[in-house]
Amino acid sequence: MKTGNQYRESLKKLHPIIYCNGRRIEDVVDDKMTKPHVNSAAMTYDLAFEPKYEDLMTATSSLTGKKINRFTHIPQSTGDLVKKVKMLRMISQHTGTCYQRCVGMDALNATFITTYEIDRDCHTNYHERFKEYYKYVQQNDLMIAGSMTDVKGDRSKKPSQQADPDLYVHIVDKRKDGIVVRGAKAHQTGMANSHEMLILPTTNLGPEDKDYAVACAIPVDAPGVIHIFGRQTNDQRRLDGDIDCGNSEFAIVGGETLTILNDVFVPWERVFMCNEYPYAQKYVETFASYHRQNYGGCKVGLADVIIGTAAAVADCNGVLNKSHIKDKLVEMTFLAETMHCCSLACSSEGFKTPAGSYYVNTLFANAAKLNCTRTMYEISRLAHDIAGGFIATLPYEADYKSKEVGPYIDKYLAANPKYSTEERIRMARLLENMTGGTALAESMHGAGSPQAMRIMIYRQANLEHKMDIAKKLAKIDKMEG
Ligand SMILES: Cc1cc2nc3c(=O)[nH]c(=O)nc-3n(C[C@H](O)[C@H](O)[C@H](O)COP(=O)(O)OP(=O)(O)OC[C@H]3O[C@@H](n4cnc5c(N)ncnc54)[C@H](O)[C@@H]3O)c2cc1C
Repeated sequence: MKTGNQYRESLKKLHPIIYCNGRRIEDVVDDKMTKPHVNSAAMTYDLAFEPKYEDLMTATSSLTGKKINRFTHIPQSTGDLVKKVKMLRMISQHTGTCYQRCVGMDALNATFITTYEIDRDCHTNYHERFKEYYKYVQQNDLMIAGSMTDVKGDRSKKPSQQADPDLYVHIVDKRKDGIVVRGAKAHQTGMANSHEMLILPTTNLGPEDKDYAVACAIPVDAPGVIHIFGRQTNDQRRLDGDIDCGNSEFAIVGGETLTILNDVFVPWERVFMCNEYPYAQKYVETFASYHRQNYGGCKVGLADVIIGTAAAVADCNGVLNKSHIKDKLVEMTFLAETMHCCSLACSSEGFKTPAGSYYVNTLFANAAKLNCTRTMYEISRLAHDIAGGFIATLPYEADYKSKEVGPYIDKYLAANPKYSTEERIRMARLLENMTGGTALAESMHGAGSPQAMRIMIYRQANLEHKMDIAKKLAKIDKMEG
C-alpha cells in the first residue's frame, strides 16, 4: 500500500496534459488549482495506515492474498459491501469533500463481473486479462478514474445516429497489437490526479453501435489524451487566500475534467470489451448500482460536517439552544441517517455473483441515490436557514485582514463572545463551500440523474405482485383492463 506522500510522488512521475483557465498545469501535486484535490485523494492512502481505521480501510486481496487498500478490493462478502459504505462516510468526515477514488473502484468491480459474463457466453478471455490488470492495480495501489460518461451530443439519439460519430468513445481501428479509440469523456472525477482511467460504455447499445462497445484501461498521460479541468463554484478563491475558500486544504467536489481521447492506442492486454454490444446495458447498470450505493456513505459523511457546521454557526450566533434550531438539526440528522440506512441495506442485502464477487441489492442502491438527490438540497436549505444571511454577504478575506477596515469587520461581525469573529467567519465560509452550486449538482447528477434511478426502480417495482396482493385483499379475482 502507498502512503499519501508516496501517492503524491507517484503522480509527479506522470506527465498528463491538463489545461486549466487558459494555461497548462505542469505539476498536479503543487499547482494551487489541483493541490486540494490531490490532498483529498491522498487521504484515502493515509487513512489506510491508521490502526483505528485498518478494518475499514484495508482488506485481503482475493487475487494475491496480500493486504491491500479497500479502494482496490473486490468485495468478497456483504460485510465487505457494508465496510465500503462505512469507510466512505468516515473519509468524508476527514475531507469535507469528494476524495474521488470510489468511481474507479466501482468501475473495476463492474468490469470484473462483466468480463466474466462476456467470457462465459462468448468464449473470449477478457476476465483472465482483467484479473491480471486488477492485480497490477492492487500491487501498485493505483488510483483509477472511472470513465463512463460520454459527452453524448443529442440525447435523443443513439451513438451511431449522432451527427458527429465521436460524441461517444468508439473504436476507430483494430490492429494486431491493440485498438485505437477516439472520443471524449465528461465530468471525470479525480482524473487529473489519477494514474489511469478505466473506460466503459455509457448506455445500452445495438448492433449498429458495436464500435461503441469498448472497455479498456489507459494511463492518464498516454499519447493522444488531453484533460480540460472544470471550473467550480468559487474555485479561484484558492489562488488568493485561505479563509474565503472555506475548506482550503481539501477544496470542493472532485476536480472534474473533460477528457479528450484523440486516437489513443490501447494494447490488447488492456482491452476488456471490444464490440460485445449486448453486454453494455448491464455493464452500465452494474457500475451505476455499485456507485449509487456510495451516496449513502460519502454524502452522509459530508452531511455530518454540514450539520456540525450549522450547529457551530448557530452557537456562534447565540441561538444553538433555541427550539426551532434544534428541530432543524434533528431534521437534518434524520435525513442523513435515512440515506445511510438505504446504503447499509443495499449492502447487507447484497449477493454473490457468478464471477465470485459480491454485488449490491440494486433496488435499494437506486433508492439510496435517489434519496440523496433531494436530501442534500434539503439539508443545505436548512443549514442556510440556521446560518443567517451573512453566509451570502461576508466581506473579502483581504478586507478582513486589512488595516483600514479589518478592525470594523472584527468589531461589527462579532456575536457570541465564546467565539472570535474569525472563527465565526471560518465556519460560515465552510458552510458556504459545502452547500454551494457545484457540491449540490454533484448530489443530483453524480452516478446518474434522478430519472436513471427511477427507471431502475420502476423495473424492479414488481407492480404485478403488488396488484395481486391488493386484489386478493379487496376480494377481486379478475379486474377489467
Ligand atoms: C460532479 C460530478 C462528478 C461526476 N463524476 C463522474 C465520473 O467520475 N465518471 C463518469 O463517468 N461520470 C461522472 N459524472 C457524470 C454523471 O454520471 C452524469 O452527469 C449523469 O449521468 C448525467 O449525465 P449528463 O450530465 O450528461 O446529463 P444529461 O444526460 O444531459 O441529463 C440532463 C437531463 O436530461 C435527461 N435526459 C438525458 N437523456 C435523456 C433521454 N435520452 N431521454 C429522456 N431524458 C433524458 C436527464 O434525465 C436529465 O434530467 C459526474 C457528474 C457530476 C455532476
